[in-house]
Amino acid sequence: MRIDVLTIFPEYLAPLDLSLIGRARQHGLLDITVHDLRTWTVDVHRTVDDTPYGGGPGMVMRPEPWGGAFDQLVPADGPVPRFVVPGPAGVPLTQSLAAELAAEPWLLFGCGRYEGIDQRVLDVAAERMTVTEVSLGDVVLFGGEVAVLAVVEAVTRLLPGVLGNAESLLEESHTGGLLEAPVYTKPAEWRGRAVPEVLRSGDHGKIARWRRDQALIRTARRRPDLLSALPPGTLDRTDQLA
Ligand code: SAM
Repeated sequence: MRIDVLTIFPEYLAPLDLSLIGRARQHGLLDITVHDLRTWTVDVHRTVDDTPYGGGPGMVMRPEPWGGAFDQLVPADGPVPRFVVPGPAGVPLTQSLAAELAAEPWLLFGCGRYEGIDQRVLDVAAERMTVTEVSLGDVVLFGGEVAVLAVVEAVTRLLPGVLGNAESLLEESHTGGLLEAPVYTKPAEWRGRAVPEVLRSGDHGKIARWRRDQALIRTARRRPDLLSALPPGTLDRTDQLA
């Protein structure tokens, strides 16, 4: 997968060199380029923002640098990326959206700052690309960079070969509609608390049942909305909600 990021703070994206994403880049599974949006500014001061039309506090990102970046990165006669723009007014980031984005060959991210990006940038992009505004939640951040890191992690861990053990994807939270059961490791007893006996029993059937029950209990207590949204038939007759 190819990923390009447009930002006025390229250093913010440094973690994309680390851990599993860094390794995937080294192995050629990911081709990530972070671009300084100021490359395409049109004045000596390398200005990227200006006051909002209509008045009000704060600044708005000017459209010209974005236009220059589109012209250079997405030539008229070539393939087009999906343009992903973080913002609190976007669609919520979910596992299903991450899976949808993971199926794209090329993602172009645009990091807003200040009060956001001039709307015409998104409108012009939408003439050639699918534009998806994505929200990390009902909160307001300083800028889109942290959101891009989150979206890139959510998307790239779904790509074949990126995770060390692809089985990790099968039973985790938000994959089958339930939250994952609690997890434990060694030592078997710590500060007076023992790991549940069943997990040490070696009985795979019992362990699977325990994990399923715990996932149901957790989801019912913490995210009843997820349970209500389960497709019919997801719960079988052995599932008993606590
Ligand atoms: N004035 C905007 C509003 O009220 O909708 C908020 C702008 S925010 C201060 C600046 C930038 O942070 C946004 O353009 C976006 O890139 C990013 N951002 C803020 N909150 C976000 C969220 N919940 N999810 C994703 N990105 C967010």
